[in-house]
Amino acid sequence: MTLLAWWKRLERATRPVHPVTERVLLERWTALPPGVRTDQQVLGRHAVGCEGTHGVFPKCNLTCSPCYHSKDANKVRVDGAHTVTQVGAQMRLLEQERGPRAHAQLIGGEVSLLDPEDHAAALAVMRRHGREPMSMSHGDFDSGYLRALALDEDGAPRFRRLSFAAHFDSLMRGRAGIPRPRTEVELNPFRARFVEMFRDLRRDHGVRSYLAHNMTVTPGNLDQIEHVVADVSGMGYSMLSFQPAARVGDERRWTGGDYRTVGIDDVWKRLEAGLGQRVAWQALQFGDPRCNRSAFGVRVDGRWMPMFDPDSEADLVARDRALAHFGGVNFGGTPPPLLAVKVGRVLVRHPGDLRVALAWLRRLLARSGGVRRVWSSWRRGGVTPMTYVVHNFMDAEDVAPAWQLMQDGQIATDPSVRATQERLSACTYAMAHPETGQLVPACVQHSVLDPGENEQLRELLPLFVI
Ligand code: SF4
Repeated sequence: MTLLAWWKRLERATRPVHPVTERVLLERWTALPPGVRTDQQVLGRHAVGCEGTHGVFPKCNLTCSPCYHSKDANKVRVDGAHTVTQVGAQMRLLEQERGPRAHAQLIGGEVSLLDPEDHAAALAVMRRHGREPMSMSHGDFDSGYLRALALDEDGAPRFRRLSFAAHFDSLMRGRAGIPRPRTEVELNPFRARFVEMFRDLRRDHGVRSYLAHNMTVTPGNLDQIEHVVADVSGMGYSMLSFQPAARVGDERRWTGGDYRTVGIDDVWKRLEAGLGQRVAWQALQFGDPRCNRSAFGVRVDGRWMPMFDPDSEADLVARDRALAHFGGVNFGGTPPPLLAVKVGRVLVRHPGDLRVALAWLRRLLARSGGVRRVWSSWRRGGVTPMTYVVHNFMDAEDVAPAWQLMQDGQIATDPSVRATQERLSACTYAMAHPETGQLVPACVQHSVLDPGENEQLRELLPLFVI
């Protein structure tokens, strides 16, 4: 290799943002509805959005009300070969259309119904396509399953890190040991035990984890959010995500409860009450504010601090510089030495950012009680990242007509249908259809496409083969 070729290769490898990511970010930003192209918008400036699988293992073994799965979901056999093939095809399209790096959820019915070998193979395929996978589960599996997933037949770790989102709420039915919880607080030992399994895995085999806690919210458990947040924030999860129930899925699973709409503000008020403090989210927005609210921050000795304080002018300047100059840099998935070179290249172009970043760090430390307190808390394990999220999925009856018009290239004249179209256009959660080359919002997948897809899968993968 000539010196020039070597130099070019080095330049490409250390480029702060991958050229495809750069292009996709710009396309995403340009396509966003004008109302969400704000200073705090992360989509199209740093992230392309999250991704998820569909139709890869629709079956679940709990019997919750409400349930988002379509009526045929439980009539489809869990089939590892189908899962791995389909996950590969979907990830290939996502990589092609959205660039080399994103967070993707291995989601369908219940992921732990997959044989651990198939589950591991699906995660490996996702990683091969540059996706940071997160397995979505009801959390009702034991450490034997976790170890069979995390370790190979010789007992060696297959992965350095596993990510799981565990769904726990009192609307769920059929969990081992607590088939019909009456209150959220009764589930706390199960929530804690889930984290404990991953702690033990790390202690025994060095496999790290990122754990999120998900909870569906209806008027029935809304007032219990306060207790959930107070009890669960310190358990070891790094994200607490709340999803107000959206009317999607098998109608037979939407009976016997109060399913009136719960708003994002309703949830947030309880979340702040549970923590006894404001949880400032306004500095950053992921997609449309009617869909998502995310507060990124850190807990220090039980007190939560926002990454950027929306009331601090200096913090907002730091945010603006971070998004403008570091947007698209792959912080999570780049080896530290390479990341240092990439960050260095940004700083060469924007040397003033170093001063701004250091000042931001000083303010964050001051807000957290000062360097000494943070240091002593850190040594006791009291400093942990924590993101609070509300993801407000839409009802199927709203999504279907809005999506149909979008497919016909029409902007709705009805303001409520147009609002749904705007939200779909700023969607942060995409699913891929390799058969058509189309990417669709998760709301569209679950509201419009899942019923037909599961009907077909039922034929392809019947529960019983005669
Ligand atoms: S359109 Fe649906 S899936 Fe997409 S961000 Fe909004 S609520 Fe979420």
